[in-house]
Amino acid sequence: MWVLGQHDEPYRKHRSSILNLVGNTPLVRIKKLIPKDISPKVEVYAKLESFNPGGSVKDRPALSMFLSAMQEGLLKEGKVVIDATSGNTGIALAMVGASLGVSVELAMPANVSEERKRIIKAYGAKVYLTDPLEGTDGAILFVRERVSKEPEKYVYLDQYNNPANWKAHFYSTGIEIWHQTGGRITHLVAGIGTGGTIMGTGRRLKIYNPEIQVIGVQPAYPFHGIEGLKHIESSIKPGIFDETFLDRTMFVETEQAYEMTKRLALEEAIFAGQSSGAALYAALELAKELEEGVIVVIFPDGGEKYLSTAPFKE
Ligand code: PMP
Repeated sequence: MWVLGQHDEPYRKHRSSILNLVGNTPLVRIKKLIPKDISPKVEVYAKLESFNPGGSVKDRPALSMFLSAMQEGLLKEGKVVIDATSGNTGIALAMVGASLGVSVELAMPANVSEERKRIIKAYGAKVYLTDPLEGTDGAILFVRERVSKEPEKYVYLDQYNNPANWKAHFYSTGIEIWHQTGGRITHLVAGIGTGGTIMGTGRRLKIYNPEIQVIGVQPAYPFHGIEGLKHIESSIKPGIFDETFLDRTMFVETEQAYEMTKRLALEEAIFAGQSSGAALYAALELAKELEEGVIVVIFPDGGEKYLSTAPFKE
């Protein structure tokens, strides 16, 4: 029988805005995908960022960057917010813009999934598609040029260099994980796009406990199929990312990420995006090395936006 307990909570409350639902995402234990030879004293948990209203981890920095631009007095009447994005930031910015009544324009590589472009348009934002061979770098250069041509029109949020990006995680994700694990977390594993998630969450966790290990995950090669992640050595380095802060970087191949993403849905019933699969692959490699520990892996988004792409296409 279904017993009402904490589950009736959402029916009693309402929120004044969709934006009040950003953050406070659930943490869930990974069980079936844990290889048999891993020590029973090692626990692995996934932070499900798909539970944000815009469907990804990027709701946090999008809201934070908007709010800091407002506080600085940049978002005056008639201004247009612009940024370069591989997709999730675009969705998040378009959602925040729609909620606050601010126009948003986004540049992204033409090969990002069709679903992402359509969701952004559904929120009313304008999309510019750039050369897929240039990756997010092409989108960044496009935005820089547009902003230099019409500086009065635009507020360029610049997620790659905006401290409000990593601070969003410093003031939310890191605190949430600390409390959700009861302060037991020993390792944080997260993929690197702008570096915002790992820098902000990692910095907060190291304040609570400097022993916590922060592990970044990158695609093994410059040309890869893990949407949302960046091969840092081969692209414009995000200003907010400081490699020396990381305790370790782990590299994951596209096929390894896809395989893990498929297995996540089949075995754990977690329908996640490929960067979640990549991060979990690295976390399980790490788990093999440990005697004991509590590993928290960030799952940046769900699988819905990738239905027309690998690994879900066939
Ligand atoms: N995974 C996905 C699916 C993403 O969209 C992003 C953001 N680009 C990341 C991982 C990496 O997050 P961050 O930019 O905070 O490093």
